[in-house]
Amino acid sequence: MTKLRFKAVALASERKPINVVKPKGKTSEYYGEKVFNRKAMTKYLSKETFDALHNAIDRGEPVNRNLAEHVAAGMRMWALENGATHYTHWFHPLTDGTAEKHDAFVEHDGQGGMIEEFEGKLLAQQEPDASSFPSGGLRNTFEARGYSAWDPSSPAFIVGDTLCVPTIFISYTGEALDYKTPLLKALYAVNKAATDVAQYFNKDVTRIQANLGWEQEYFLVDEDLFMARPDLALTGRTLMSHESAKNQQLEDHYFGAIPVRVQKFMEELEYESYSLGIPVKTRHNEVAPNQFELAPIYEECNLAVDHNLLVMSVMDKVARKHSFRVLFHEKPFKGINGSGKHNNWSLTTNTGINLLSPGKDKVANLRFITFVVNILAAVHKNNALLKASISSATNAHRLGANEAPPAIISVFLGTQVSDILDKFEKSSVKDAIVVDSRKQISLGVGQIPEILLDNTDRNRTSPFAFTGNRFEFRAVGSSANCASAMTALNASVAEQLKAFKLEVDMLIEKGKSKDEALYEVLKKYIKESRPIRFNGNGYSDEWKAEAKKRKLDCETSVPVIYDAYTSKQSIKTFEGILSEIELHARNEVKWETYTKKIQIESRVLGDLALNHIIPVAISYQSILLTNVSKLKEISDDYKTLGAEQLRLIEKVSTHVNAINAKVHEMIDARKIANNIESEREKAVAYHDTVAPHLDEIRYHVDKLELIVDNEMWPLAKYRELLFIR
Ligand code: ADP
Ligand code: MG
Repeated sequence: MTKLRFKAVALASERKPINVVKPKGKTSEYYGEKVFNRKAMTKYLSKETFDALHNAIDRGEPVNRNLAEHVAAGMRMWALENGATHYTHWFHPLTDGTAEKHDAFVEHDGQGGMIEEFEGKLLAQQEPDASSFPSGGLRNTFEARGYSAWDPSSPAFIVGDTLCVPTIFISYTGEALDYKTPLLKALYAVNKAATDVAQYFNKDVTRIQANLGWEQEYFLVDEDLFMARPDLALTGRTLMSHESAKNQQLEDHYFGAIPVRVQKFMEELEYESYSLGIPVKTRHNEVAPNQFELAPIYEECNLAVDHNLLVMSVMDKVARKHSFRVLFHEKPFKGINGSGKHNNWSLTTNTGINLLSPGKDKVANLRFITFVVNILAAVHKNNALLKASISSATNAHRLGANEAPPAIISVFLGTQVSDILDKFEKSSVKDAIVVDSRKQISLGVGQIPEILLDNTDRNRTSPFAFTGNRFEFRAVGSSANCASAMTALNASVAEQLKAFKLEVDMLIEKGKSKDEALYEVLKKYIKESRPIRFNGNGYSDEWKAEAKKRKLDCETSVPVIYDAYTSKQSIKTFEGILSEIELHARNEVKWETYTKKIQIESRVLGDLALNHIIPVAISYQSILLTNVSKLKEISDDYKTLGAEQLRLIEKVSTHVNAINAKVHEMIDARKIANNIESEREKAVAYHDTVAPHLDEIRYHVDKLELIVDNEMWPLAKYRELLFIR
C-alpha cells in the first residue's frame, strides 16, 4: 500500500493535460445534434405526427399506439443515421443513478438475415424485468413485473451507440418504482393549481411551467490517487485522514484560475453536454481545493432533472478519460467544504410571465405577493417533508456542518421582500388601491421595484432563499436526484395553492370582492407562516434554539427525518401524486439504503484500520523500540536520551489499542442492528449505535497519521488528494 501511495503520487504529479478536439462549427451549430428534438422531428416525422405528438405533450395526454408507431419509425431512422445500433429505456430507479438495458435494433427478417426494427410498442412500453431494483416491498408478491413507459416530454438522445428513451418505471399494479413518475404528477398538480390561482389576475393563463436551474458542485481527484484510497473508491468519501496544513483558509481556490488539466476536462464535458442538448453555461472553481461547479441555463423541471442525471454520467465518463475521478459525495473530505446542488426553482406562465418576478402595476404586484406568500405557507406547512426530501446518509455530513444549510428548513426573503410583506400585512385593500401623485400605489404592493436581484442581500446560510426572481433550494445534496426535492416542493406548493383558492372562492361566494378576499387570506397566511421566515445566520446556535421555539422540525437523525413522508400533512400533500402505500414503500427503500451505506462505511473502515493502519503503526513502534533498546545498550541515561521515542511508543500503543477496541465494539453494534427486523428500527440502530464509531475510530487513526513516519504511511494524504492536479 505504501508503495502504491508513492507510485500514485509520482504518476499524478507527472500527468499532462489531454488535448480535446473541439467539434466543428459554432456551439449553436452542433447543439443538440444527438437529441431527437423538434428540429430532428421535423425532418423525420410527418407534419401530422409532429403536431399530434406535441399536442399530446402540451396537454399532458398519453400518446396512443398508432402515434407511437409513427414516432418510433422516425426515431429509428434518425437513430440509425446517427450511428446507433442499440436502444434502451432510460429510467431513474430508487437508487443513486439511472438504469438502462440495451437491446440491438436487429430482428430476424424471416429469410435467414436481419433487419433493423423498432416498433411503436417497444418505444411506448417495455418490461425490463429489473427485479433487483429496490421497491420497498411493492414487488414482493407473485407479480413482480416492472414496466417502463415512454415519457414523450423528455426527448430521446444518443449516447455512444445507444438510443436512450426517457421513461417512467412502475409496477404491474401501477405503483411508482422510480423518481420520475411522482415528479411528473407533482408537476401536473402544480400546473393545475397555479393556473387556477393565476387566473385571478389574468384569464389568458392556461398553463404554468415549473423551472429548474441546478448548480452542480463536485470534486476532481487524480485517478491513481483515488485508487490509492480504498475508502474513497468504495464509499465515495475519505473515512480517515488528517486535515492538510493548507486547505481553503486563504480562499485562493474560489473563482481562481482553473487548472489546465481541469480546464480540458471541462471543455470536453461542455462539448458533450451541448451535443446532448444540455445548455451548460457556468463553470468555476468552488471554495475547497479541487472543488468545482457546473450550472446550466434553467429549463422545464422534468427536462432539467433528466439533464442533471445525464450530465452526472457524462462527467463520470469524461473525468475518466482525463485520468480523474469525479466525486459527487456531499462530504468527501473532512475539514473543508462539501458539495451541494442548489435547485433554483420558479414558475412561469404560458403568457410569458415569471410568477416570482414583481411587475409594473398593482395587479402584477398582487400576483407576485400571492405566489410568494403561498410558497412561504407551503414551505412552512411542509418543512419537515422538504427536509426529508433532501436527507440521506451522505448529505447528513454536509447539512448542519458550518458551511451548508442547517438541518432546519427556513426561508430567507431578503429585507426588501420581507418589508413588503410586513407592510402588506398591515395594509387594507383601500390603502392599496389609492394611487399617489406619481401614479403609484401608495402602500405595499405598488412600491415593489421591478428588479429585486439582491446581490448585496445574499444569505448563503439559508437552505431556501429568495434570489430575485426564483427560490433557491440549497439543501439538496450533490449526489442526489433532483427529482426527490422537486417532487416534494412542487407537490407542497400545489397543495397549498389549492387550499388558497378554496378559501378565496369561499369569501367571494360570501359577497367579498376578489381583491378583498385575496387580501384577507394572504394577510392571514403572512401571519401564520411567519415562523418559517428567517433572515439571520442559519449556522448559529441561537437559531437552533429559536427554531425549536417556532416549532420548526429540528430532527437531525436521518432515519427519523424520513418519518415526515408519512405524516398526515404529507399524505395530504401527496394526494394524487403518491399514495400512502407508495410513501410507506419508498420509506422502506430509504431506510434500507441508509443502513447499507453506513454498513459499507463501517466495514471498509474496520478493514482499513485493522489491516492497513494498525500493522503500519506497530511496525513504526518496533523501530522506536529497537532504537530505545540500543540506547539502553550504550547509556544508563536512555530514558532521558530516548524521552521522545518513549513518549511516541506510548502514544502509538494508546491509539492502536483504542482503534482495536472500537472496531470490535462497532462490529458488535452491527451484529445487533443486523438482527433487527424492521427496516426503520435497523436504520435507527445504525444511526445511533454504529455511525458514531466511525468518527471515534477516525480520531485515533488521524492521530496516528501525525505520528507515524510519512515514508511508511499507506494511504494518500489530504495534501496529495487535494493539491495534485
Ligand atoms: P448563483 O449566483 O446562485 O451561482 P447563477 O446566476 O449561477 O446563480 O444561476 C444559478 C442557476 O439559476 C442557473 O442554472 C440559472 O439558469 C438559474 N436561474 C436563473 N433564473 C432562474 C429562474 N427564474 N428560475 C429558475 N432558475 C433560474
Ligand atoms: Mg446559487
